[in-house]
Amino acid sequence: MLTIDVITLFPEVIEAGTRYSIVGRAIERGLVAIRAIQLRDFTTDKHRTVDDEPYGGGAGLVMKPEPIFRAVEYCLQTTHSDEETGRRTRIILLEPQGKLYTQALARELAQESHLILICGHYEGVDARVREHLATDTISIGDFVLTGGELPALVIIDSVVRLLPGAIHSPESLQQDSFADGLLGYPQYTRPEEFRGWRVPPVLLSGNHGAIARWRRREQLRLTRTLRPDLFARAYLTKQDVQLLKELNEDEVQR
Ligand code: SAM
Repeated sequence: MLTIDVITLFPEVIEAGTRYSIVGRAIERGLVAIRAIQLRDFTTDKHRTVDDEPYGGGAGLVMKPEPIFRAVEYCLQTTHSDEETGRRTRIILLEPQGKLYTQALARELAQESHLILICGHYEGVDARVREHLATDTISIGDFVLTGGELPALVIIDSVVRLLPGAIHSPESLQQDSFADGLLGYPQYTRPEEFRGWRVPPVLLSGNHGAIARWRRREQLRLTRTLRPDLFARAYLTKQDVQLLKELNEDEVQR
């Protein structure tokens, strides 16, 4: 079973964000255990201080290293990591300077037995946490949030849905965007016609081969148009190359 510990000043946010839907059910089924750890419980002064002024001056407050180190040590002492199977504990500091989070990283984290997510706040976290404690630093995008709680929930959600048994039809994971390096194909449901917009006829044909071909072609078209960066790195099969040729011909004709 995977254990995810979240070290935070706002455990209620993590508890509220993990109570519902796929993550909530995965907890109930014992696929994952999530502990929201109050950082202030690891302070030693009567004011339960977690932050202080930055050395060198400047605006704002920086989170102190001692409570964070103690909280992580507590998490390590109270959770077994699965050394025999090679599954590890990953100590992840959430910060905008971290490695950009991707589906590939979500897949990697879903293989581990223990994740510890450290949520920063204020101006960030004393750099010694990154230098001497964290095994990873992760950013969920090139923007700045107030705290690490939303990034932690993003990671939890994306990792938990990959755990075996977490979602009803695991095949849907293969259809997700990024599963094979491309964006997902467009999905439609009833009604067949809505405000004059019709569902592409091939999807109503019952011809599974033609549907699969159309979906793959759409994946290639959308990824090439919307995410040329992903497209440049995608592994293309012989059939993909043929579909791209058809796409190019169609575009020239239009
Ligand atoms: N001064 C920091 C900087 O410029 O990089 C920003 C600190 S931010 C206001 C406070 C905390 O929110 C960070 O320590 C981190 O835990 C979290 N955070 C903010 N943006 C994030 C992002 N894009 N990815 C991951 N964590 C983020």
